Amino acid sequence: MIHAYTGDGKGKTTAAIGLLIRAFGAGRRVGIIFFDKGSETYRHNELVVLDRLGIDYHITGLERMKPDGTFRFGNTDEDLVEGQRGVALAKKYLQERNFDLLVLDEALTSCSVKLLKKEELVELIEMTPESTELVLTGRCNDKELLERADLVTSMNKHKHYFDRGVKARPGIEY
Ligand code: ATP
Ligand code: MG
Repeated sequence: MIHAYTGDGKGKTTAAIGLLIRAFGAGRRVGIIFFDKGSETYRHNELVVLDRLGIDYHITGLERMKPDGTFRFGNTDEDLVEGQRGVALAKKYLQERNFDLLVLDEALTSCSVKLLKKEELVELIEMTPESTELVLTGRCNDKELLERADLVTSMNKHKHYFDRGVKARPGIEY
């Protein structure tokens, strides 16, 4: 089945990792590829657990925090190369590695910000074997793309503390 966890509220990546842990607990072969998450400045703490459990993961994407602390938006050629590296890794997982569950974290966001092409995501969806669960996360307004999934859950932001200026906290946001 193809899952899509989307929307503007919190919980997309945590839901995907929760499912990954559950499947791993059931003895399934699982893996996760993070898109556009190369920032060393906020190395995600879930990676500590994946390391400990020996779960396969790859991080793609370049640093987006500038020396002055502001964020760099838009995609350079190097960013696009990183996107392609993620797609190639995903293809390899789906074609060669016989995984039961593969998470492509922020793949939907990456598509929304044109780091990936929609056709590339569609191709990944189409090449997913019957026996593999593919989980895509991230914000996405492309109804046609979401239609390709068997399950779409939207996390809707009813309220979020970042609207009152609370900064991202280790262990909660990353
Ligand atoms: P989570 O990783 O907590 O499951 P998510 O995957 O649904 O969240 P993302 O859009 O990937 O959400 O955002 C990553 C994290 O950054 C989230 O925990 C979110 O609460 C937080 N976040 C998003 N926007 C902001 C912001 N403007 N200020 C502070 N934190 C933010
Ligand atoms: Mg996320």
